[in-house]
Amino acid sequence: MLPSIFVSHGAPTLPLDACPAREFLKGLGTVLPRPRAILAVSAHWDTDKPTINRVSTNDTIHDFKGFPDALYKVRYPAHGSRALVTRTLQVLHEAAFQVEVDDARGLDHGAWVPLMLMYPEADVPVVQLSVQSNLGPDHHVKLGQALAPLRGEDVLVLGTGGFVHNLRNLDRARIDGPEPPWVGEFADWVHVALREKRTADLIQYLKLAPHAAMAHPEEEHFLPLFVALGAGGAAAKAKRLHQSTTFGTLRMDAYAFS
Ligand code: ZN
Repeated sequence: MLPSIFVSHGAPTLPLDACPAREFLKGLGTVLPRPRAILAVSAHWDTDKPTINRVSTNDTIHDFKGFPDALYKVRYPAHGSRALVTRTLQVLHEAAFQVEVDDARGLDHGAWVPLMLMYPEADVPVVQLSVQSNLGPDHHVKLGQALAPLRGEDVLVLGTGGFVHNLRNLDRARIDGPEPPWVGEFADWVHVALREKRTADLIQYLKLAPHAAMAHPEEEHFLPLFVALGAGGAAAKAKRLHQSTTFGTLRMDAYAFS
């Protein structure tokens, strides 16, 4: 059975920038058992209700401004998967979620940035599921729990967001700029809570974790972690796969749940 995975995708330029997180993601696709399909839950698709994309081939969405031309030329034409859409709708309906279907949308950079590093041939079908930033962590744990059976069907449930994601205090000039202490204090708290399986505390992270409002001035980049956590199942152990920092305030940590 595949683990569920959370990765941090960092800045859209990650595929162009030499850094430990890029090398980690390049290796991740080779160490995981090869999935039949990927269900990507990206911070960059935020809707009121869970929404899934149903396309034969995914368009590449360049949902950012002011970056190098090379980035706008990137195409990641992974196929969709009708079978995975049908199955995802089924498990979410069984868990009493209302789900919408989008028959046009492709992959945003929260999905294609890590996927082009993990699976550069774009030869694994990808379906995207949105986050609901108005519904908070508890909802996303439940969403993940509903998706857990997919792991036994060779589907990689991949949450993609940011372990610490503060764009206001970025050290824009230096990808290897120093990490302010509050970044590490927040990340350490989350790591220990994950390791100790304190899911109730994690759901309350805004109240309990140090510097939570600095670490996530908006919440959408943290929510895919909760989906991956839920998809690991009640007995899951959290395993940290990677830990690094880019631009001072973007923690690039990744976790597996199984
Ligand atoms: Zn992002």
